[in-house]
Amino acid sequence: MAATALAPYACDPERSRGRLHPEAPPINRTQFQRDRDRIIHCNAFRLLEYKTQVFINHEGDLFRTRLTHSIEVAQIARTLARNLSLHEDLTEAISLAHDLGHTPFGHAGQDELNACMHEMAPEAGGFEHNLQSLRVVDELEERYAAFNGLNLCFETREGILKHCSVSHARELGEIGRRFLDRTQPSLEAQIANLADEIAYNNHDVDDGLRSGLIRIEQLMQIEIFATHYAGVMRKYPNLERQRAVSETIRAMINTLIVDLTETTRARIGHARPGSADEVRLAGPLAAFSAPMRAQTNALKSFLLANLYRHSRVMRMTTKARRIVRELFTAFIDDPRLLKDEYRREGDVEQARAIADYIAGMTDRYAIREHRELFRMD
Ligand code: MG
Repeated sequence: MAATALAPYACDPERSRGRLHPEAPPINRTQFQRDRDRIIHCNAFRLLEYKTQVFINHEGDLFRTRLTHSIEVAQIARTLARNLSLHEDLTEAISLAHDLGHTPFGHAGQDELNACMHEMAPEAGGFEHNLQSLRVVDELEERYAAFNGLNLCFETREGILKHCSVSHARELGEIGRRFLDRTQPSLEAQIANLADEIAYNNHDVDDGLRSGLIRIEQLMQIEIFATHYAGVMRKYPNLERQRAVSETIRAMINTLIVDLTETTRARIGHARPGSADEVRLAGPLAAFSAPMRAQTNALKSFLLANLYRHSRVMRMTTKARRIVRELFTAFIDDPRLLKDEYRREGDVEQARAIADYIAGMTDRYAIREHRELFRMD
């Protein structure tokens, strides 16, 4: 089947705002395919396999990791892009790269690293994981002869930088400008962001149930789960539990994608953007309908209260925070503990290099490094 034509409001690789370092155009791929391919080949992408999503990597082989999460986001985002005649490769590139800057141990690791930076190196400007993802693709990857980072297109970088504090936005130049003048990113970036939400809400239900930390009876209080689960059981009354859960999640993802596609299409029809730049100047165009937004918010609140703050998850979180803090403190107090490549002259530069080092660690690497530093002999 021939590729569907791009909508006028889609990002066009032929009209990209370009790369930080000029390069000859790719020969048999588009600029956005090249970005997607560079992301898949980079070190930070492979490290995602050993970074926590919710459950620590070694708790069980079936739980999502940041790598499988990123692939699920890309899969959902590509469906949405195709439905809306957006640039599928750009959406895929953004989705695959969106968590490259994530620390070990999920949000606990990131929050603790941010706290450590603020306490022990107040001049360094904290730690933000979206900004770190951009840092990975702009500076930290060392693969190419002519530049640091992956030298991605503006449109991919714009999508990776989902959030950013105003103070950092000021330092970032063009890529940070939308956080100052409060404009939007491309529709490809907007749908990648919502695909992230669809992916984690649904796979956290799946992983939460598999782990036994949440139960189907509890989830029956949540409308979006209850209606889809009831639909599955009406159709297959004798279905075994794990298949019923899978069918429910499959149906929820489908409903969310259909709702998001239809609502976004209607909003585009109303705003009539004639180009990607007009998308940026319109309000947010990608959105769920109000009833679906309310339902997903209810599911999010449920997961926060019952899964992310479950005592077993919290115990892991406390331990993870302690590891990150003790690593950071040890390196700040005595930079000689660091490998040469992470030593810097100035205090601010040293703190940033330590944050880069810790953020790049996988769960198991951080645990091993911590064990070695604090070994009692
Ligand atoms: Mg994510």
